[in-house]
Amino acid sequence: MNTPSTPTHFIRNIIEEDNRTGKWNGRVETRFPPEPNGYLHIGHAKSICLNFGLALEYNGICHLRFDDTNPEKEAQEYVDAIIESVRWLGFDWKEHLYYASDYFDRLYEFAEYLIVRDKAYVDSLPADEIRKLRGTLTEAGTNSPYRNRPAEENLDLFRRMRAGEFADGAHVLRAKIDMASPNINLRDPVIYRIRHIHHQRTGDKWCIYPMYDYTHCISDALEYITHSLCTLEFEDHRPLYDWVLDQLTEKVPCHPQQIEFARLNLTYSVMSKRKLIDLVENKLVDGWDDPRMNTLAGLRRRGYTPAAIRLFAERIGISKADSWIDMAILEDCLREDLNEHALRRIAVLDPVLLVIDNFAEGHEEICHAPNHPQKPELGTRELLLTKRLYIDREDFMEIPEKGFFRLTPGTEVRLRYAFIVKCTHLVKDDQGKILEIHCMYDPDTKSGTAGAETRKVRGNIHWLSTTHAKAVEIRLYDRLFTDPHPDAEGKDFKTSLNPDSKRIITGYVEPALCNALPEQQFQFERHGYFVADPIDTKPEKPVFNRTASLRNTWEKISNKSTINK
Ligand code: ATP
Ligand code: MG
Repeated sequence: MNTPSTPTHFIRNIIEEDNRTGKWNGRVETRFPPEPNGYLHIGHAKSICLNFGLALEYNGICHLRFDDTNPEKEAQEYVDAIIESVRWLGFDWKEHLYYASDYFDRLYEFAEYLIVRDKAYVDSLPADEIRKLRGTLTEAGTNSPYRNRPAEENLDLFRRMRAGEFADGAHVLRAKIDMASPNINLRDPVIYRIRHIHHQRTGDKWCIYPMYDYTHCISDALEYITHSLCTLEFEDHRPLYDWVLDQLTEKVPCHPQQIEFARLNLTYSVMSKRKLIDLVENKLVDGWDDPRMNTLAGLRRRGYTPAAIRLFAERIGISKADSWIDMAILEDCLREDLNEHALRRIAVLDPVLLVIDNFAEGHEEICHAPNHPQKPELGTRELLLTKRLYIDREDFMEIPEKGFFRLTPGTEVRLRYAFIVKCTHLVKDDQGKILEIHCMYDPDTKSGTAGAETRKVRGNIHWLSTTHAKAVEIRLYDRLFTDPHPDAEGKDFKTSLNPDSKRIITGYVEPALCNALPEQQFQFERHGYFVADPIDTKPEKPVFNRTASLRNTWEKISNKSTINK
């Protein structure tokens, strides 16, 4: 995937150097380690593309590993959705699908090993006491009165913890490191806790569960991971990662290198799973795959393509410095991909009737429209022009504004792929609303004929025959938030939900769209990119979701609000 144009980054440099020195014998083994407590979002895509991308690039492998150590919040639904999303993005872990829970026996064994070597102890203080004694960033912590329990007593208690003798919270197992360490993560972190709770994979086998920091490094080592890539907030956890593996050198086959990179922060979105769950549970969106959500399931339903997301990941790059990426960059990557691949079609979203008075009743004029303007090899399709047409209301102005070159009384425009027409008069209702626009056409000006060249008009509008157009449901989606930083400090992200982020209309589409397949993408000329909804589209009954407008319409809005926090 590393094309010559791909900018390189510090992680690639580390790998290159390791390969040069032979540190891993040329092996590159990475992993993507989601916790199955929610759906994946666009931030995860950055990590997926990095981990799987590097493995592909260096002929290595990337594992998909579920970090399932916290059964309270985890569920099989999330496991399934994560698997589907990573696959959809185009990556393959081959046989390397793992679960941290696969290692529960080993993790337990290693914990006993640490206890025996006086590197771990059972603490019987309540959780809030433990927290109090931890100290602060400026003050050292204080030893627990249980810190010097003899190893045999610790072992006995730990075994009884496992056997289910104690209630949740009665004891914890802590690593014995240094309560005075300037790094709070090293002040005897808890590595096991009691939780009498069913686990989606191990059932009721365990009532003690290992903590993330203890589990993660050991899982990496047991899987022979070489480069363990994670986001910057784990930088301060690295000494703990290394400490645990240093104690276990006799037990684990290798000591992977943890490397941190900056997470993706994207404007106009919230990225934390807790907040995404909040949106779903409070029904502020229509589920995890709501097309306005920045989950991969939502982006997919919105019409995002895997290629667009991979392009985005490549474009934003990898660095050590935290920064904000503008949503417009993601949308531009999408447009770039869709512009290339989406077939062009005609849709009229806000119809008004156009009647060609000098066109014979019942006549159908065959017109040819290209499926893609830059790709003649994709062919053309037929559009039938009839006396009565739908055009989009915004393509007509009775009293034109300056710079309006579409249809107005007395002026001429081209009906795209057909003839030049001139507006002659209007029919309105009692309230003055336009019901019909009447015009005359010039039969010598058909597109593609010599006559078309004789006269140029500035305006060019799309149309659909009222006889042949089909009414369909169209869902006009837009950004979910109006604020570029909806969850900045002190803000409640739910107060900046965009009230216009979803509008359902009935629009007209050309007949060629009736049998659109779920997930098929189109450009509706002059309206933007649309996708046939993957779930609600049925044979002969498509439902379309707006994926993106043709260009960024948010610039003027976002410039008004504060871009920078
Ligand atoms: P959240 O904070 O949204 O709940 P998480 O980090 O707890 O996410 P995990 O399931 O633990 O979610 O994440 C799996 C992997 O994805 C981790 O390696 C994590 O660093 C990475 N990841 C999560 N969010 C981002 C992000 N915004 N940018 C880049 N990588 C991310
Ligand atoms: Mg996490």
